[in-house]
Amino acid sequence: PFDVLVVGGGPAGASAAIYAARKGIRTGIVADRFGGQILDTAAIENFISVNHTEGPKLAASLEEHVKEYNIDIMNLQRAKRLEKKDFIEIELENGAVLKSKSVILSTGASWRNIGVPGEKEFRNKGVAYCVHCDGPLFEGKNVAVVGGGNSGIEAAIDLAGYTTHVTVLEFNSELKADSVLQERLRSLPNVTVVTNAQTKEITGTDKVNGVTYVERETGEEKHIEIAGIFIQIGLVPNTAWLGDSVERNKFGEILVDKRGATNVPGVFAAGDCSDSPFKQIIISMGSGATASLAAVDYLVRN
Ligand code: FAD
Repeated sequence: PFDVLVVGGGPAGASAAIYAARKGIRTGIVADRFGGQILDTAAIENFISVNHTEGPKLAASLEEHVKEYNIDIMNLQRAKRLEKKDFIEIELENGAVLKSKSVILSTGASWRNIGVPGEKEFRNKGVAYCVHCDGPLFEGKNVAVVGGGNSGIEAAIDLAGYTTHVTVLEFNSELKADSVLQERLRSLPNVTVVTNAQTKEITGTDKVNGVTYVERETGEEKHIEIAGIFIQIGLVPNTAWLGDSVERNKFGEILVDKRGATNVPGVFAAGDCSDSPFKQIIISMGSGATASLAAVDYLVRN
């Protein structure tokens, strides 16, 4: 069995694995996609001491750093079940069962779906989530962004730079994004913001050709022609696979204490999958280190 098995290969998981391996204990890391969300990130300018980097570059450095150590890396593998027996067992989708004395959950988060007709059907055929990944495909076209929070407004500003026109659809009566972002958005000539708009359906044939929304104040339906639509309504923690095995809050975030410990002895969690109030790279790495040191402490005491 492993001493420490990390599930998730983003900033939190990489940090947790390195901290554990540096103690000379048997460490493994299972990741569906090594790198995590930063693979979908363009510029990163708040990773302190690095003035500017890019997501894929940082992901490559993470992997390189992890490979410096004696860590068993199992990439492109998804965990589907956790069970505490004599050891903690993690079952993978490929059927393998990994055993460990302690586990650090760092499965991060994924884009939230809006759940309207057309979203699934036209995924990657005009329905997109990652502006930095797919935005340039819509150069010179009309697009829409669903969601007026920070990510939605950042997306709209980005898209306005190379698309013809951007329509922002926000369900609430006002945008939630920081005021600096809102000001920047309103200074752009090719952006329309529609508040009180409930997205109803994404239309298309073989690919997206429009979106229908309901004006919530009047109940009137409106349809606009677009080639692409970016859903920016937040993130959901990748924790559904845990079921009732570990305590989670109503958002699905794993409940942890100051040491990253969950309600299950020997199981710790870190990063965006946990109930930490802020979701950032540096915070995920810090919480990965915390959970790892706490796991090592747990191993010493048990
Ligand atoms: P993640 O990065 O989500 O990694 C989760 C890992 O777990 C992945 O390897 C994933 O494949 C794996 N995984 C998931 N489920 C399973 C499973 N069942 N089995 C096995 N593995 C699994 N933060 C900043 O600080 N600065 C920024 O500029 C910034 N920009 C961002 C831009 C975008 C577009 C996005 C989406 C996020 C941005 N963030 C930024 C936030 C930052 O990326 C996250 O806070 C950080 O990546 C969280 O790290 P994590 O390790 O907790 O999770």
